[in-house]
Amino acid sequence: MSTTSSSERPVIGIGACLAGNPVRYNGQTKSANAHVRALADHFELRPFCPEMSAGLGVPRPPIHLVGETDAIRVLDVDTHAHDYTDALRDCARRFLDANTGVCGYILVKGSPSCGFDRVKRFNAAGNLVARDAQGMYASTLAELDPLLPLEDDERLNDPGLRESFVTRALTYHDWQQLCAQGLNAGRLVAFYSRYKYLVMAHDVPAYRHLGQMLADAGKHDPQVLGATFIRELMQALRRRATRRSHSNVLFHIAGYLKRRVQGEERQRLAGLIEQYRRGEVPLVVPVTMLKHHFANHPDAYIDNQVFLYPYPDELGLRNSL
Ligand code: SF4
Repeated sequence: MSTTSSSERPVIGIGACLAGNPVRYNGQTKSANAHVRALADHFELRPFCPEMSAGLGVPRPPIHLVGETDAIRVLDVDTHAHDYTDALRDCARRFLDANTGVCGYILVKGSPSCGFDRVKRFNAAGNLVARDAQGMYASTLAELDPLLPLEDDERLNDPGLRESFVTRALTYHDWQQLCAQGLNAGRLVAFYSRYKYLVMAHDVPAYRHLGQMLADAGKHDPQVLGATFIRELMQALRRRATRRSHSNVLFHIAGYLKRRVQGEERQRLAGLIEQYRRGEVPLVVPVTMLKHHFANHPDAYIDNQVFLYPYPDELGLRNSL
């Protein structure tokens, strides 16, 4: 898999074994699925192996998670005499310090270090208790940067989770670019103005609340307001958009064409949105029709909506929604 560096591309962290490096405990790699590989064309995938970085080496004795959910430690499987918890937590700190522009992270299913969820947890006797934990490195990433979108390679097989991950990663990247310019009330309002319909598709109450939050943006410290705003926006995007909520947004956007597209063309557009809502065509179909109409009848507000252009079309993410 290509992990070519390009300063133009948003940066996503990835478990080094998934990126083709022989860093697993037994010196093997783990093959990335086609969906992970496809992301390498649009993102700079930055490989990192916390267990190697913590000095465990290859080959190394296997490790696992031990303890109650609120006091999990990472111990070697054979003796439970070596504790790697703090070293792995430190790796997360070092990764984030060294990669300030990272906007997402592809974790590795089932790993006691890099697992996103449902990682095996054992008791002190070494017996399996549950599959309910997050890998130690992964949970520390989430704790240190709650905005950072995380997924694992297997979950990315799900079209909805894949689309959500890419959308959130690019939103976070966009936000980081905004912060690099310097936050002020005008920029915050302009940023949200582009995201309104995307947020509406995921979470209508959050869409309204974010609008109210920015109504008197000029009266607040932009750093404090911005931190609250982006936390809520990223949280809203985690909610799964449905055919119903997408259709609602499609009809809202189509409303901007009322005076410009009429008669049969208008009916055809409404018909396509209805077909999408009923599950007969994927989301890409009505969105493509809307883009076609707005190419003929430009509208500055709609042309700026991230909902219509959330990620590169080549990823085909709306073909399966
Ligand atoms: S620690 Fe993470 S990156 Fe390293 S081999 Fe295990 S799963 Fe892969």
